[in-house]
Amino acid sequence: MQQYIDTYDFAGKKAIVRVDFNVPLNEKMEITDDTRIRAAIPTLKKVLEKGGSLIIMSHLGRPKGVTEKFSLRHILGRVSELLGTTVKFAEDCMNADEQVAALKPGEALVLENLRFYAEETGKPRLAEDATDEEKKAAKAELKESQKKFVAKLASYADCYINDAFGTAHRAHASTALIAKYFPNDKMFGYVMEGEIKAIDHVLHTPEHPVTAIVGGAKVSSKIGIIEHLFDTVDNMIIGGGMVYTFVKAQGGKIGNSLCEDDQMDLALEILKKAEEKGVKMYLSKEVVIADDFSNDANTKICLNSEIPDNWEGMDAAPSTVTAWEEVLMASKTILWNGPVGVFEIPAFAKGTNRIAEILAKATENGAFTLVGGGDSVAAVTQMGFAKKVSYVSTGGGAMLEYLEGKELPGIAAIRE
Ligand code: AMP
Repeated sequence: MQQYIDTYDFAGKKAIVRVDFNVPLNEKMEITDDTRIRAAIPTLKKVLEKGGSLIIMSHLGRPKGVTEKFSLRHILGRVSELLGTTVKFAEDCMNADEQVAALKPGEALVLENLRFYAEETGKPRLAEDATDEEKKAAKAELKESQKKFVAKLASYADCYINDAFGTAHRAHASTALIAKYFPNDKMFGYVMEGEIKAIDHVLHTPEHPVTAIVGGAKVSSKIGIIEHLFDTVDNMIIGGGMVYTFVKAQGGKIGNSLCEDDQMDLALEILKKAEEKGVKMYLSKEVVIADDFSNDANTKICLNSEIPDNWEGMDAAPSTVTAWEEVLMASKTILWNGPVGVFEIPAFAKGTNRIAEILAKATENGAFTLVGGGDSVAAVTQMGFAKKVSYVSTGGGAMLEYLEGKELPGIAAIRE
């Protein structure tokens, strides 16, 4: 049975908490963005305040075995600082019995990077030229040792908290498999609770009109959310590189713009489905085009279907964003995933930045605004608007899959 962090009695108990401390580090192994650590602090503090002790576990990067560069040792100082107490460190997540036994209420221990063991993800580490038979045997062997890995982690604690939304779409040892050892003592942390609540609100209980802005490079990677959102939204704004697949499919001239030829039929189907469902579609109509994929390229503004040869669509033109603004300001719920232009290049970030601005304004006007996906989150953060929208999702892939209507293993494991 699922428990709740606010009502669970942690006194004298050891809680093993899966957090997402996968933070970026520079060459000196200094943290360059501690957002993810900060996000987990309320959950960790709550356990300590209620008289529990903490065994904190996470992954960092994608190591293939023990790698100093990916050691969680590098982040201990910051965790201690933010938690307001010295945290201990277990250099091997499979060999922490003594340190765990010595933990007193109010104390915290961080386990070394779980992914130093292939058992965490369950993906064997094989040579590239491994035969199919070797792959099969390694997988079966790893499956067995993964059971021991999970059992060992579980043996450290009395209860389990999952607060790592960013890995909730993975059925890994620490994100899903471990939950079954705590049938009556498993719960979400505050990050997970917040993410689930915000996305569930948009999907199931939004105030209408609801508008989704879906941007980014490819139709193929966003098709799942576009289709699933048709059941919820009144308006859908499509921006970014994926627009040109729609435009070409409708017979427009797109020059050198990004296009997935194999997705053109699907693009037409999406437009047809939108019509059937009564969803109004707003594709970037006028676009900023460039003669090169660079900041100092020559630029012009033209209709999305009249792009000359050797030019490519790079951003939504001001007139397009102004038209979208009207739709957005009339919306009560807005979901944004994906940039509406090549946002990494300053000359083509204007459309995306204006969307961030409009969302801040819409939030002030009373709309519920949810922003997710690496680039859109970067845009609102860089513009200083992260606190001016209703919710910023920290889980890129996890958020996408949740919006697609998929059951995430990390969520299901707590609920079932
Ligand atoms: P995604 O990860 O699918 O959300 O896509 C994000 C990427 O889409 C960013 O790297 C953007 O630069 C890229 N993108 C957005 N608009 C365009 C465009 N018009 N042409 C090429 N790439 C684009």
